[in-house]
Amino acid sequence: MTASTIDGKAAALALREQVRDEVLRFRDTTGRAPGLAVVLVGEDPASAIYVRSKGKATREAGMESFEHKLPADAAEDELLALVDRLSADPTVDGILVQLPLPPQIDASKVITRIDPDKDVDGFNPVNAGRVAIGLPGFVPCTPLGCLKLLKAERGRLTGLDAVIIGRSNIVGKPIALLLLGESATVTVAHSRTRDLPEVVRRADIVIAAVGRPEMVKGDWLKPGATVIDVGINRIDVGEGTPRLVGDVDFASASEIAGAITPVPGGVGPMTIACLIRNTLVSAARREGFELETSL
Ligand code: NAD
Repeated sequence: MTASTIDGKAAALALREQVRDEVLRFRDTTGRAPGLAVVLVGEDPASAIYVRSKGKATREAGMESFEHKLPADAAEDELLALVDRLSADPTVDGILVQLPLPPQIDASKVITRIDPDKDVDGFNPVNAGRVAIGLPGFVPCTPLGCLKLLKAERGRLTGLDAVIIGRSNIVGKPIALLLLGESATVTVAHSRTRDLPEVVRRADIVIAAVGRPEMVKGDWLKPGATVIDVGINRIDVGEGTPRLVGDVDFASASEIAGAITPVPGGVGPMTIACLIRNTLVSAARREGFELETSL
């Protein structure tokens, strides 16, 4: 069997176009564009690239992008004051503080300070709680992207066995809660799980969010399983530029799986598309604007 490849790039493009159409209507109706504020502290090159691409995607969707840069030695109070200003600013619908933050700043304090109704990254404990008990809030972008890819591939997830490898607060745990909300039977595996291959073999749906290059092998999979690979790992192949691979060994997994996301081009592009989506949803809630499509 050769698995079909789940095209995250195409799905992300479709979502971004849908958001752009809604943004046009939003602007006509309310007379303003939805706004996303992105805060970068320091010069981390990977973070700078993420921030730039988030700004670009925001503008391409017809939204306003507010970019704030603080120096690497900025004090925690300075960042908290900026977060307070953005939380109070009516032109800002979404606030995202790019992680990681420098060591003198307590990231959880900063995230907790963001107005939960503008927390489009979904990392504020209020939104984590809302996701846990099924209240409307903001779902973190990568888990939301995974859910959208899964539903497009499998339709209803009711009763399916899902195994999530990884229990981080930003990926593994929220995905587990979302799949539970879809009535899947959810197992969360992690670094202390015994006989991981055997656990994974039960799954109709496998989500790998570990951060270990090509750890999940084809012979761990149930034939026909749907595999969502969240991992982004850079491996040195000795030719200067590192190669990007996921947490799943794509070559062997695609012999057994029914469908699988590639890395790159799978979950990654959906993350930014969901950020744009969350920002529009925030703006719509704040203005009482009714969206025509379910995003
Ligand atoms: P993390 O390091 O916070 O969590 C990793 C999890 O994997 C932990 O819960 C740990 O228990 C588990 N784990 C570690 N070793 C294991 C092992 N040998 N067997 C089973 N479980 C093991 O990582 P994270 O932030 O959740 O990210 C996971 C991966 O997803 C990383 O590669 C990261 O780069 C990637 N990621 C991608 C996106 C995206 O947009 N596609 C977004 C966020 C994270």
